[in-house]
Amino acid sequence: LMGFVGFANLPNQVHRKSVRKGFQFTAMVVGESGLGKSTLINTLFNTTLYPPKAPLPPSAERPSTVAIESISADIEENGVRLRLTVVDTPGFGDFVNNDECWKPIVENIEARFDSYLEQENRVNRQKIVDNRVHACLYFIQPTGHSLKPIDIEFMRQLHTRVNLIPIIAKADTLTDEEVAEFKARVLADIQYHKIHIFEAPTYENEDEEALAEAKEIMSKIPFAVVGSDKLVKTPDGREVRGRAYPWGVVEVDNEDHCDFVKLRQMLVRTYMEELREYTNDVLYENWRTDKLLSMGV
Ligand code: GDP
Ligand code: MG
Repeated sequence: LMGFVGFANLPNQVHRKSVRKGFQFTAMVVGESGLGKSTLINTLFNTTLYPPKAPLPPSAERPSTVAIESISADIEENGVRLRLTVVDTPGFGDFVNNDECWKPIVENIEARFDSYLEQENRVNRQKIVDNRVHACLYFIQPTGHSLKPIDIEFMRQLHTRVNLIPIIAKADTLTDEEVAEFKARVLADIQYHKIHIFEAPTYENEDEEALAEAKEIMSKIPFAVVGSDKLVKTPDGREVRGRAYPWGVVEVDNEDHCDFVKLRQMLVRTYMEELREYTNDVLYENWRTDKLLSMGV
């Protein structure tokens, strides 16, 4: 089902009692401009969270620091409500000097932890708003070489604070072999630098089907994705979300063409609740401990 996002499956991921309240989920996107971040968010959630934007005239003044822009939408599917917030970080990697351009992003993530801690410490803790970032999609430029220093530095600085999900952007610009080789090099870099990326949980008592699913998803990381919010016609007459080329159509929702479906499974259909839990139980807890220790408590 093409338009089905999949968060209607959330009640199966969590206890019924949180279903009534609806769900909050915050995803952050990071990567150089033009890598297809806004398009992919629209494609993932089947909304136009980001309307098409007119290109900046060359004379327009460009900001010289990374901005943090957050945008929310209430979406509903089969009676399940999701308050989705996407945190965009325009400017990342776009400057002549990109030293420390991860810094405002870490600060933003920690400010969200701070706001949560502050709410937890209130007398009335009934209405806690969870603005913490539950997942960070990191867009890697499809160079076909390996990670750039800025990629490694960003992930090294962020991996203890947020669930990192690395993505190879615009995978339709690489051949299948190039994608496979690039993935292997990216993974080797990630391992070498001891960067922790989010992993599909495999519990001991899990059934075989769930284990197989987790394995299958993990085998695709870093997800090589193609985004498109337009419908195109395939040579055999189907209307699909995709990108049309003289040599054919790349289909977003076709697992033979790219890893979009697996990424959506990771982020929305199967592990959204796990991403939230890991954020709360591990990332937030570690940050809180660090903070209290640094205050000498
Ligand atoms: P952002 O700056 O990272 O948010 O990038 P946008 O989503 O605004 O996309 C920049 C340009 O890349 C637009 O012209 C998109 O149509 C195009 N684009 C987006 N996703 C893809 C993709 O997967 N493959 C290709 N070839 N182009 C894409
Ligand atoms: Mg954008």
